[in-house]
Amino acid sequence: MTTTADDVKAWTLASLPAGSANNQSYQVINPATQQACASVPDCSAADAKKLADASVTAFDTWKHTSAFHRSQLLRKWFDRIVSGANEIAQAISSEMGKPIKEAVGEVMYAAGFAEWYAEEAKRLYGETFASQHENKRLYATRQPVGPVYAVTPWNFPAAMITRKVAPALAAGCTVIVKPAEQSPLTALLLEQYWREVGGPEGTFQVITSNNPAEISGVFFQDRRIRKLTFTGSTEVGVLLYRQSAETMKRVSLELGGHAPFIVFADADIERAAEEIMACKFRNAGQTCVCTNRIYVHRSISARLIDALATRISALRVGDPADEGTQIGPLVDEQGLNKVREHVEDAVGRGARVVVGGQALGGLYFQPTLLCDVAPGMRILEEETFGPVAPILEFDTTDEVVAAANDTPYGLAAYLWTRDLDTAHRVSERLDYGIVGINDGAPSTAQAPFGGVKMSGLGREGGVWGIQEYLDTKFVSVALAPR
Ligand code: NAD
Repeated sequence: MTTTADDVKAWTLASLPAGSANNQSYQVINPATQQACASVPDCSAADAKKLADASVTAFDTWKHTSAFHRSQLLRKWFDRIVSGANEIAQAISSEMGKPIKEAVGEVMYAAGFAEWYAEEAKRLYGETFASQHENKRLYATRQPVGPVYAVTPWNFPAAMITRKVAPALAAGCTVIVKPAEQSPLTALLLEQYWREVGGPEGTFQVITSNNPAEISGVFFQDRRIRKLTFTGSTEVGVLLYRQSAETMKRVSLELGGHAPFIVFADADIERAAEEIMACKFRNAGQTCVCTNRIYVHRSISARLIDALATRISALRVGDPADEGTQIGPLVDEQGLNKVREHVEDAVGRGARVVVGGQALGGLYFQPTLLCDVAPGMRILEEETFGPVAPILEFDTTDEVVAAANDTPYGLAAYLWTRDLDTAHRVSERLDYGIVGINDGAPSTAQAPFGGVKMSGLGREGGVWGIQEYLDTKFVSVALAPR
Protein backbone atom coordinates (compact mmCIF):
# COMPACT_ATOMS: atom_id res chain seq x y z
CA MET A 1 0.00 0.00 0.00
CA THR A 2 1.36 3.48 -0.88
CA THR A 3 0.17 6.90 0.19
CA THR A 4 -0.21 9.66 -2.36
CA ALA A 5 0.45 13.33 -1.66
CA ASP A 6 -3.15 14.15 -0.78
CA ASP A 7 -3.23 11.26 1.72
CA VAL A 8 -5.59 9.17 -0.38
CA LYS A 9 -4.25 5.66 0.05
CA ALA A 10 -3.78 3.69 -3.14
CA TRP A 11 -4.62 0.06 -2.39
CA THR A 12 -3.36 -2.78 -4.51
CA LEU A 13 -4.70 -6.27 -5.10
CA ALA A 14 -2.84 -9.15 -3.47
CA SER A 15 -4.18 -11.42 -6.22
CA LEU A 16 -2.66 -9.28 -8.98
CA PRO A 17 0.75 -8.33 -7.60
CA ALA A 18 1.90 -6.89 -10.94
CA GLY A 19 -1.08 -4.51 -10.99
CA SER A 20 -4.28 -4.60 -12.97
CA ALA A 21 -3.91 -5.02 -16.71
CA ASN A 22 -5.23 -1.60 -17.67
CA ASN A 23 -3.46 0.14 -14.78
CA GLN A 24 -6.59 2.09 -13.90
CA SER A 25 -7.94 2.87 -10.47
CA TYR A 26 -11.04 4.49 -9.05
CA GLN A 27 -11.66 6.50 -5.91
CA VAL A 28 -13.51 5.29 -2.84
CA ILE A 29 -15.65 8.08 -1.39
CA ASN A 30 -16.22 8.61 2.32
CA PRO A 31 -19.96 9.41 2.55
CA ALA A 32 -19.47 11.54 5.68
CA THR A 33 -17.12 13.99 3.93
CA GLN A 34 -17.97 13.14 0.31
CA GLN A 35 -14.19 13.19 -0.27
CA ALA A 36 -12.03 10.37 -1.59
CA CYS A 37 -10.58 8.25 1.22
CA ALA A 38 -8.72 5.69 -0.93
CA SER A 39 -8.24 4.44 -4.43
CA VAL A 40 -8.37 0.83 -5.62
CA PRO A 41 -7.61 -0.91 -8.91
CA ASP A 42 -10.34 -0.73 -11.52
CA CYS A 43 -9.84 -4.21 -12.89
CA SER A 44 -10.51 -5.33 -16.43
CA ALA A 45 -11.92 -8.48 -17.99
CA ALA A 46 -8.32 -9.66 -18.54
CA ASP A 47 -7.71 -9.40 -14.78
CA ALA A 48 -10.88 -11.35 -14.08
CA LYS A 49 -9.64 -14.11 -16.36
CA LYS A 50 -6.36 -14.31 -14.41
CA LEU A 51 -8.24 -14.66 -11.14
CA ALA A 52 -10.52 -17.32 -12.61
CA ASP A 53 -7.48 -19.31 -13.74
CA ALA A 54 -5.86 -18.99 -10.31
CA SER A 55 -9.09 -20.06 -8.61
CA VAL A 56 -9.40 -23.14 -10.79
CA THR A 57 -5.75 -24.09 -10.21
CA ALA A 58 -6.04 -23.63 -6.46
CA PHE A 59 -9.25 -25.67 -6.33
CA ASP A 60 -7.38 -28.74 -7.56
CA THR A 61 -5.28 -28.73 -4.39
CA TRP A 62 -7.67 -27.14 -1.89
CA LYS A 63 -10.45 -29.66 -2.47
CA HIS A 64 -8.07 -32.45 -1.44
CA THR A 65 -6.99 -30.83 1.83
CA SER A 66 -8.45 -32.37 4.95
CA ALA A 67 -11.45 -30.79 6.61
CA PHE A 68 -9.33 -30.52 9.77
CA HIS A 69 -6.70 -28.49 7.93
CA ARG A 70 -9.31 -26.12 6.50
CA SER A 71 -10.88 -25.85 9.90
CA GLN A 72 -7.60 -24.78 11.50
CA LEU A 73 -6.97 -22.11 8.87
CA LEU A 74 -10.49 -20.75 9.26
CA ARG A 75 -10.02 -20.63 13.02
CA LYS A 76 -6.84 -18.60 12.53
CA TRP A 77 -8.69 -16.31 10.14
CA PHE A 78 -11.36 -15.82 12.81
CA ASP A 79 -8.68 -14.88 15.38
CA ARG A 80 -7.05 -12.48 12.93
CA ILE A 81 -10.37 -10.78 12.11
CA VAL A 82 -11.05 -10.34 15.82
CA SER A 83 -7.59 -8.90 16.46
CA GLY A 84 -8.04 -6.58 13.47
CA ALA A 85 -11.57 -5.54 14.43
CA ASN A 86 -10.70 -1.87 14.84
CA GLU A 87 -8.82 -1.68 11.56
CA ILE A 88 -11.69 -3.29 9.67
CA ALA A 89 -14.28 -1.18 11.48
CA GLN A 90 -12.45 1.98 10.45
CA ALA A 91 -12.43 0.81 6.84
CA ILE A 92 -16.16 0.06 7.00
CA SER A 93 -16.91 3.39 8.57
CA SER A 94 -14.90 5.41 6.10
CA GLU A 95 -16.04 3.65 2.95
CA MET A 96 -19.78 3.45 3.66
CA GLY A 97 -20.49 5.66 6.68
CA LYS A 98 -21.48 3.13 9.36
CA PRO A 99 -21.04 4.58 12.87
CA ILE A 100 -17.81 3.18 14.26
CA LYS A 101 -19.37 1.44 17.26
CA GLU A 102 -21.81 -0.35 15.01
CA ALA A 103 -19.01 -1.17 12.57
CA VAL A 104 -17.12 -2.98 15.35
CA GLY A 105 -20.35 -4.91 16.02
CA GLU A 106 -20.51 -5.87 12.35
CA VAL A 107 -16.91 -7.15 12.43
CA MET A 108 -17.69 -9.40 15.40
CA TYR A 109 -20.82 -10.68 13.65
CA ALA A 110 -18.73 -11.25 10.49
CA ALA A 111 -16.03 -13.05 12.46
CA GLY A 112 -18.73 -15.35 13.85
CA PHE A 113 -19.14 -16.95 10.40
CA ALA A 114 -15.41 -17.76 10.24
CA GLU A 115 -15.63 -19.32 13.71
CA TRP A 116 -18.82 -21.25 13.00
CA TYR A 117 -17.58 -22.69 9.70
CA ALA A 118 -14.18 -23.52 11.19
CA GLU A 119 -16.18 -25.86 13.41
CA GLU A 120 -18.69 -26.94 10.78
CA ALA A 121 -15.97 -27.93 8.28
CA LYS A 122 -15.39 -31.07 10.38
CA ARG A 123 -19.07 -31.98 10.48
CA LEU A 124 -19.85 -32.70 6.85
CA TYR A 125 -21.50 -36.07 6.95
CA GLY A 126 -22.63 -38.45 4.26
CA GLU A 127 -25.22 -41.23 4.38
CA THR A 128 -25.33 -44.93 3.69
CA PHE A 129 -28.57 -46.56 2.63
CA ALA A 130 -29.93 -49.99 1.86
CA SER A 131 -29.93 -51.74 -1.49
CA GLN A 132 -32.37 -54.38 -2.65
CA HIS A 133 -29.31 -56.39 -3.72
CA GLU A 134 -27.35 -58.22 -1.02
CA ASN A 135 -23.98 -57.48 -2.63
CA LYS A 136 -24.45 -53.74 -3.12
CA ARG A 137 -23.31 -50.98 -0.78
CA LEU A 138 -24.78 -47.56 -1.41
CA TYR A 139 -23.68 -44.26 -0.01
CA ALA A 140 -23.83 -40.53 -0.63
CA THR A 141 -20.95 -38.16 0.04
CA ARG A 142 -20.60 -34.38 -0.14
CA GLN A 143 -18.09 -32.75 -2.44
CA PRO A 144 -17.23 -29.07 -2.95
CA VAL A 145 -19.11 -27.58 -5.92
CA GLY A 146 -15.95 -25.94 -7.31
CA PRO A 147 -14.65 -22.38 -7.75
CA VAL A 148 -17.21 -19.81 -6.60
CA TYR A 149 -17.90 -16.25 -7.75
CA ALA A 150 -19.30 -14.07 -4.94
CA VAL A 151 -20.82 -10.63 -5.48
CA THR A 152 -21.52 -8.58 -2.37
CA PRO A 153 -23.24 -5.30 -1.37
CA TRP A 154 -21.89 -2.25 0.45
CA ASN A 155 -24.23 -2.22 3.45
CA PHE A 156 -22.39 -4.97 5.40
CA PRO A 157 -18.94 -4.88 3.80
CA ALA A 158 -17.52 -7.51 6.19
CA ALA A 159 -20.39 -9.79 7.15
CA MET A 160 -21.75 -10.29 3.64
CA ILE A 161 -18.30 -11.56 2.65
CA THR A 162 -17.52 -13.87 5.56
CA ARG A 163 -21.05 -15.33 5.36
CA LYS A 164 -20.09 -16.62 1.90
CA VAL A 165 -16.33 -17.09 2.03
CA ALA A 166 -16.18 -19.04 5.30
CA PRO A 167 -18.62 -21.81 4.26
CA ALA A 168 -17.14 -21.92 0.74
CA LEU A 169 -13.61 -22.44 2.07
CA ALA A 170 -14.80 -24.87 4.73
CA ALA A 171 -16.49 -26.97 2.05
CA GLY A 172 -13.28 -27.09 -0.02
CA CYS A 173 -14.28 -24.50 -2.64
CA THR A 174 -12.12 -21.60 -3.79
CA VAL A 175 -13.76 -18.20 -4.01
CA ILE A 176 -13.41 -14.90 -5.84
CA VAL A 177 -15.19 -11.95 -4.21
CA LYS A 178 -16.28 -8.86 -6.07
CA PRO A 179 -17.28 -6.34 -3.41
CA ALA A 180 -19.57 -3.40 -4.17
CA GLU A 181 -17.85 -0.44 -5.83
CA GLN A 182 -18.51 1.65 -2.71
CA SER A 183 -16.90 -0.74 -0.22
CA PRO A 184 -13.80 -2.54 -1.52
CA LEU A 185 -11.45 -1.77 1.41
CA THR A 186 -12.99 -4.16 3.92
CA ALA A 187 -12.87 -6.94 1.33
CA LEU A 188 -9.18 -6.30 0.68
CA LEU A 189 -8.42 -6.42 4.41
CA LEU A 190 -10.27 -9.70 4.81
CA GLU A 191 -8.27 -11.20 1.94
CA GLN A 192 -5.03 -9.83 3.41
CA TYR A 193 -5.82 -11.44 6.78
CA TRP A 194 -6.55 -14.80 5.11
CA ARG A 195 -3.15 -14.68 3.43
CA GLU A 196 -1.45 -13.64 6.66
CA VAL A 197 -2.72 -16.73 8.48
CA GLY A 198 -1.51 -19.02 5.69
CA GLY A 199 -4.50 -19.12 3.33
CA PRO A 200 -3.07 -20.65 0.13
CA GLU A 201 -2.67 -18.63 -3.07
CA GLY A 202 -5.82 -18.57 -5.18
CA THR A 203 -8.18 -19.88 -2.50
CA PHE A 204 -9.74 -16.49 -1.60
CA GLN A 205 -9.20 -13.61 -4.01
CA VAL A 206 -10.77 -10.16 -4.22
CA ILE A 207 -11.31 -8.27 -7.45
CA THR A 208 -12.26 -4.59 -7.41
CA SER A 209 -13.92 -2.81 -10.29
CA ASN A 210 -16.01 0.19 -11.09
CA ASN A 211 -17.60 -1.76 -13.93
CA PRO A 212 -19.13 -4.85 -12.33
CA ALA A 213 -20.95 -6.02 -15.46
CA GLU A 214 -17.75 -6.22 -17.52
CA ILE A 215 -15.71 -8.31 -15.12
CA SER A 216 -18.69 -10.42 -14.00
CA GLY A 217 -19.29 -11.44 -17.60
CA VAL A 218 -15.97 -13.30 -17.56
CA PHE A 219 -17.08 -15.46 -14.62
CA PHE A 220 -20.57 -16.08 -15.98
CA GLN A 221 -19.19 -17.33 -19.28
CA ASP A 222 -16.57 -19.52 -17.64
CA ARG A 223 -17.89 -23.07 -17.16
CA ARG A 224 -15.12 -23.79 -14.64
CA ILE A 225 -16.69 -21.31 -12.19
CA ARG A 226 -19.33 -23.57 -10.73
CA LYS A 227 -21.31 -21.29 -8.48
CA LEU A 228 -22.63 -17.76 -8.13
CA THR A 229 -23.45 -16.46 -4.69
CA PHE A 230 -24.94 -12.98 -4.71
CA THR A 231 -26.19 -10.55 -2.09
CA GLY A 232 -27.74 -7.33 -3.30
CA SER A 233 -30.86 -5.90 -4.85
CA THR A 234 -33.58 -8.07 -6.36
CA GLU A 235 -33.19 -6.23 -9.66
CA VAL A 236 -29.51 -7.17 -10.05
CA GLY A 237 -30.13 -10.63 -8.57
CA VAL A 238 -32.63 -11.45 -11.32
CA LEU A 239 -30.14 -10.30 -13.94
CA LEU A 240 -27.31 -12.43 -12.55
CA TYR A 241 -29.60 -15.46 -12.09
CA ARG A 242 -30.36 -15.26 -15.80
CA GLN A 243 -26.69 -14.89 -16.73
CA SER A 244 -25.75 -17.88 -14.56
CA ALA A 245 -28.08 -20.12 -16.56
CA GLU A 246 -25.74 -20.10 -19.58
CA THR A 247 -23.16 -22.17 -17.73
CA MET A 248 -25.63 -23.89 -15.34
CA LYS A 249 -24.08 -22.56 -12.16
CA ARG A 250 -25.36 -23.38 -8.71
CA VAL A 251 -26.96 -20.15 -7.49
CA SER A 252 -27.62 -18.58 -4.10
CA LEU A 253 -29.36 -15.21 -4.03
CA GLU A 254 -29.81 -13.02 -0.95
CA LEU A 255 -31.91 -10.14 -2.22
CA GLY A 256 -34.01 -7.22 -1.08
CA GLY A 257 -36.63 -7.18 1.65
CA HIS A 258 -39.59 -5.16 2.87
CA ALA A 259 -40.04 -6.28 6.44
CA PRO A 260 -43.34 -5.81 8.28
CA PHE A 261 -43.21 -5.31 12.06
CA ILE A 262 -46.59 -6.16 13.60
CA VAL A 263 -47.39 -4.92 17.09
CA PHE A 264 -50.49 -6.60 18.54
CA ALA A 265 -52.72 -4.98 21.18
CA ASP A 266 -51.26 -7.06 24.05
CA ALA A 267 -47.60 -6.29 23.22
CA ASP A 268 -45.14 -4.83 25.70
CA ILE A 269 -45.07 -1.39 24.06
CA GLU A 270 -41.80 -0.17 25.59
CA ARG A 271 -39.92 -3.30 24.58
CA ALA A 272 -41.48 -3.27 21.13
CA ALA A 273 -40.38 0.36 20.72
CA GLU A 274 -36.83 -0.52 21.77
CA GLU A 275 -36.65 -3.34 19.23
CA ILE A 276 -38.16 -1.21 16.47
CA MET A 277 -35.38 1.31 17.10
CA ALA A 278 -32.70 -1.37 16.78
CA CYS A 279 -34.38 -3.00 13.80
CA LYS A 280 -35.19 0.18 11.89
CA PHE A 281 -32.36 2.59 12.66
CA ARG A 282 -29.19 0.54 12.71
CA ASN A 283 -26.98 1.33 9.76
CA ALA A 284 -29.24 4.38 9.21
CA GLY A 285 -31.96 2.03 8.03
CA GLN A 286 -29.79 0.54 5.29
CA THR A 287 -30.26 -3.16 5.97
CA CYS A 288 -32.22 -5.76 4.05
CA VAL A 289 -34.00 -6.92 7.24
CA CYS A 290 -34.86 -3.41 8.50
CA THR A 291 -38.56 -2.99 9.03
CA ASN A 292 -40.09 -0.88 6.29
CA ARG A 293 -43.69 -1.09 7.57
CA ILE A 294 -44.78 -0.94 11.20
CA TYR A 295 -48.32 -2.20 11.73
CA VAL A 296 -49.73 -1.35 15.13
CA HIS A 297 -53.10 -2.28 16.60
CA ARG A 298 -55.32 0.80 16.61
CA SER A 299 -55.98 0.54 20.36
CA ILE A 300 -52.29 1.14 21.23
CA SER A 301 -51.04 3.18 18.27
CA ALA A 302 -50.94 6.54 20.12
CA ARG A 303 -48.77 5.00 22.86
CA LEU A 304 -46.39 3.32 20.44
CA ILE A 305 -46.05 6.51 18.37
CA ASP A 306 -45.20 8.47 21.55
CA ALA A 307 -42.66 5.87 22.65
CA LEU A 308 -41.00 5.92 19.23
CA ALA A 309 -41.10 9.70 18.84
CA THR A 310 -39.21 10.17 22.12
CA ARG A 311 -36.54 7.69 21.12
CA ILE A 312 -36.17 8.89 17.53
CA SER A 313 -35.82 12.54 18.61
CA ALA A 314 -32.96 11.49 20.91
CA LEU A 315 -30.90 9.71 18.22
CA ARG A 316 -27.47 11.27 17.76
CA VAL A 317 -26.75 12.00 14.09
CA GLY A 318 -23.16 12.78 13.21
CA ASP A 319 -19.70 11.80 12.11
CA PRO A 320 -19.49 8.00 11.87
CA ALA A 321 -15.95 8.12 13.24
CA ASP A 322 -17.32 9.52 16.52
CA GLU A 323 -18.01 6.86 19.20
CA GLY A 324 -21.25 8.58 20.24
CA THR A 325 -22.82 8.67 16.77
CA GLN A 326 -25.91 6.53 16.24
CA ILE A 327 -26.93 7.66 12.75
CA GLY A 328 -24.39 8.33 10.02
CA PRO A 329 -24.84 9.49 6.45
CA LEU A 330 -26.53 7.54 3.68
CA VAL A 331 -24.13 5.75 1.37
CA ASP A 332 -24.45 8.04 -1.64
CA GLU A 333 -26.52 10.70 -3.42
CA GLN A 334 -28.76 8.10 -5.04
CA GLY A 335 -29.54 6.59 -1.63
CA LEU A 336 -30.30 9.99 -0.15
CA ASN A 337 -32.58 10.95 -3.05
CA LYS A 338 -34.59 7.76 -2.67
CA VAL A 339 -35.20 8.42 1.02
CA ARG A 340 -36.20 12.03 0.33
CA GLU A 341 -38.53 10.95 -2.49
CA HIS A 342 -40.22 8.31 -0.32
CA VAL A 343 -40.91 10.84 2.42
CA GLU A 344 -42.16 13.48 -0.04
CA ASP A 345 -44.38 10.96 -1.80
CA ALA A 346 -45.87 9.75 1.50
CA VAL A 347 -46.49 13.28 2.78
CA GLY A 348 -47.97 14.28 -0.59
CA ARG A 349 -50.46 11.40 -0.25
CA GLY A 350 -51.53 12.23 3.29
CA ALA A 351 -48.90 10.87 5.69
CA ARG A 352 -48.00 13.03 8.70
CA VAL A 353 -44.43 13.69 9.85
CA VAL A 354 -44.20 13.11 13.61
CA VAL A 355 -40.41 13.53 13.86
CA GLY A 356 -37.78 14.56 11.27
CA GLY A 357 -38.68 14.48 7.60
CA GLN A 358 -35.86 16.59 6.18
CA ALA A 359 -32.44 16.14 4.62
CA LEU A 360 -29.72 17.64 6.81
CA GLY A 361 -27.06 18.57 4.28
CA GLY A 362 -24.33 16.34 2.88
CA LEU A 363 -25.67 12.80 2.72
CA TYR A 364 -27.50 12.99 6.05
CA PHE A 365 -31.24 12.58 6.55
CA GLN A 366 -33.10 13.21 9.81
CA PRO A 367 -34.34 10.08 11.59
CA THR A 368 -38.01 10.22 10.72
CA LEU A 369 -41.33 8.91 12.04
CA LEU A 370 -44.33 8.98 9.70
CA CYS A 371 -47.89 8.12 10.68
CA ASP A 372 -51.13 7.88 8.67
CA VAL A 373 -49.21 5.89 6.08
CA ALA A 374 -51.50 4.07 3.63
CA PRO A 375 -51.37 1.64 0.69
CA GLY A 376 -50.33 3.19 -2.61
CA MET A 377 -47.40 5.11 -1.12
CA ARG A 378 -43.96 4.24 -2.55
CA ILE A 379 -42.58 3.65 0.92
CA LEU A 380 -44.82 0.57 1.24
CA GLU A 381 -43.74 -0.88 -2.08
CA GLU A 382 -40.00 -0.24 -2.41
CA GLU A 383 -37.10 -0.62 0.00
CA THR A 384 -36.48 2.84 1.46
CA PHE A 385 -33.01 2.00 2.78
CA GLY A 386 -33.00 4.99 5.10
CA PRO A 387 -33.87 6.14 8.63
CA VAL A 388 -37.61 6.44 8.09
CA ALA A 389 -40.19 4.54 10.16
CA PRO A 390 -43.69 4.43 8.62
CA ILE A 391 -46.63 3.53 10.90
CA LEU A 392 -49.93 1.95 9.80
CA GLU A 393 -52.84 0.95 12.03
CA PHE A 394 -54.81 -2.29 11.90
CA ASP A 395 -57.88 -3.79 13.57
CA THR A 396 -57.90 -7.55 12.92
CA THR A 397 -55.31 -10.31 12.66
CA ASP A 398 -56.55 -11.45 9.24
CA GLU A 399 -56.29 -7.93 7.92
CA VAL A 400 -52.73 -7.42 9.15
CA VAL A 401 -51.48 -10.81 7.96
CA ALA A 402 -52.89 -10.12 4.49
CA ALA A 403 -51.24 -6.68 4.43
CA ALA A 404 -47.91 -8.06 5.70
CA ASN A 405 -47.85 -10.69 2.95
CA ASP A 406 -48.97 -8.30 0.23
CA THR A 407 -45.48 -7.71 -1.20
CA PRO A 408 -43.24 -9.44 -3.72
CA TYR A 409 -40.57 -9.68 -0.99
CA GLY A 410 -40.29 -12.36 1.69
CA LEU A 411 -37.10 -11.92 3.71
CA ALA A 412 -37.79 -10.98 7.36
CA ALA A 413 -40.93 -10.22 9.38
CA TYR A 414 -41.44 -9.39 13.05
CA LEU A 415 -44.37 -9.69 15.40
CA TRP A 416 -45.01 -8.52 18.94
CA THR A 417 -47.49 -10.19 21.27
CA ARG A 418 -47.62 -11.90 24.66
CA ASP A 419 -50.14 -14.45 23.41
CA LEU A 420 -48.67 -17.84 22.50
CA ASP A 421 -51.40 -18.71 20.00
CA THR A 422 -51.03 -15.42 18.12
CA ALA A 423 -47.23 -15.79 18.11
CA HIS A 424 -47.23 -19.26 16.57
CA ARG A 425 -50.23 -18.96 14.28
CA VAL A 426 -49.22 -15.62 12.79
CA SER A 427 -45.61 -16.75 12.41
CA GLU A 428 -46.83 -19.75 10.40
CA ARG A 429 -48.96 -17.54 8.15
CA LEU A 430 -46.21 -15.05 7.29
CA ASP A 431 -44.61 -15.71 3.88
CA TYR A 432 -41.09 -14.91 5.02
CA GLY A 433 -37.80 -16.76 5.43
CA ILE A 434 -37.14 -15.24 8.87
CA VAL A 435 -39.62 -14.36 11.62
CA GLY A 436 -38.68 -12.54 14.82
CA ILE A 437 -41.21 -13.09 17.62
CA ASN A 438 -40.66 -10.34 20.16
CA ASP A 439 -37.19 -10.12 18.63
CA GLY A 440 -36.11 -7.35 16.27
CA ALA A 441 -32.60 -8.68 15.63
CA PRO A 442 -32.70 -12.45 14.98
CA SER A 443 -29.62 -12.79 12.71
CA THR A 444 -26.79 -14.94 14.03
CA ALA A 445 -24.10 -17.10 12.42
CA GLN A 446 -25.63 -20.45 13.38
CA ALA A 447 -29.13 -19.69 12.02
CA PRO A 448 -30.44 -19.93 8.44
CA PHE A 449 -30.63 -16.50 6.82
CA GLY A 450 -32.52 -16.00 3.56
CA GLY A 451 -35.82 -15.21 1.94
CA VAL A 452 -38.67 -16.55 -0.15
CA LYS A 453 -40.42 -15.05 -3.19
CA MET A 454 -38.40 -12.18 -4.72
CA SER A 455 -36.07 -12.07 -1.71
CA GLY A 456 -34.00 -14.90 -3.09
CA LEU A 457 -32.90 -18.51 -3.14
CA GLY A 458 -30.95 -20.57 -0.64
CA ARG A 459 -29.81 -19.92 2.91
CA GLU A 460 -26.64 -18.58 4.50
CA GLY A 461 -25.48 -19.42 7.99
CA GLY A 462 -25.65 -22.49 10.19
CA VAL A 463 -25.72 -26.03 8.88
CA TRP A 464 -27.75 -24.80 5.90
CA GLY A 465 -25.17 -22.31 4.66
CA ILE A 466 -22.47 -24.85 3.86
CA GLN A 467 -24.82 -27.10 1.87
CA GLU A 468 -24.96 -24.35 -0.76
CA TYR A 469 -21.29 -25.11 -1.52
CA LEU A 470 -21.60 -28.90 -1.67
CA ASP A 471 -22.74 -31.33 -4.31
CA THR A 472 -24.06 -34.75 -3.38
CA LYS A 473 -22.28 -37.70 -4.95
CA PHE A 474 -23.92 -41.10 -4.96
CA VAL A 475 -21.54 -44.08 -4.88
CA SER A 476 -22.77 -47.59 -5.60
CA VAL A 477 -20.40 -50.47 -4.85
CA ALA A 478 -21.15 -53.95 -6.17
CA LEU A 479 -19.25 -56.59 -4.19
CA ALA A 480 -18.53 -60.04 -5.60
CA PRO A 481 -21.56 -62.29 -4.96
CA ARG A 482 -21.28 -64.47 -1.84
P1 NAD B 1 -26.83 -3.82 -5.81
O1 NAD B 1 -27.72 -4.90 -6.31
O2 NAD B 1 -26.89 -2.50 -6.48
O3 NAD B 1 -25.32 -4.28 -5.88
C1 NAD B 1 -24.89 -5.47 -5.29
C2 NAD B 1 -23.65 -5.96 -5.99
O4 NAD B 1 -23.97 -6.27 -7.34
C3 NAD B 1 -22.50 -4.96 -6.03
O5 NAD B 1 -21.30 -5.65 -5.80
C4 NAD B 1 -22.56 -4.45 -7.45
O6 NAD B 1 -21.30 -4.03 -7.93
C5 NAD B 1 -23.00 -5.69 -8.20
N1 NAD B 1 -23.63 -5.43 -9.49
C6 NAD B 1 -24.50 -4.45 -9.80
N2 NAD B 1 -24.85 -4.55 -11.11
C7 NAD B 1 -24.17 -5.61 -11.61
C8 NAD B 1 -24.12 -6.23 -12.90
N3 NAD B 1 -24.82 -5.76 -13.92
N4 NAD B 1 -23.33 -7.31 -13.05
C9 NAD B 1 -22.62 -7.80 -12.01
N5 NAD B 1 -22.63 -7.26 -10.78
C10 NAD B 1 -23.41 -6.18 -10.57
O7 NAD B 1 -27.12 -3.70 -4.24
P2 NAD B 1 -26.45 -2.73 -3.18
O8 NAD B 1 -26.99 -1.35 -3.40
O9 NAD B 1 -24.98 -2.90 -3.13
O10 NAD B 1 -27.02 -3.33 -1.80
C11 NAD B 1 -28.29 -3.05 -1.32
C12 NAD B 1 -29.25 -4.16 -1.68
O11 NAD B 1 -28.76 -5.38 -1.16
C13 NAD B 1 -30.61 -3.98 -1.05
O12 NAD B 1 -31.60 -4.36 -1.97
C14 NAD B 1 -30.60 -4.95 0.13
O13 NAD B 1 -31.85 -5.37 0.57
C15 NAD B 1 -29.79 -6.06 -0.43
N6 NAD B 1 -29.21 -6.88 0.64
C16 NAD B 1 -29.71 -8.12 0.85
C17 NAD B 1 -29.20 -8.90 1.89
C18 NAD B 1 -29.73 -10.29 2.15
O14 NAD B 1 -29.06 -11.03 2.86
N7 NAD B 1 -30.88 -10.68 1.62
C19 NAD B 1 -28.18 -8.41 2.69
C20 NAD B 1 -27.67 -7.14 2.43
C21 NAD B 1 -28.20 -6.39 1.39
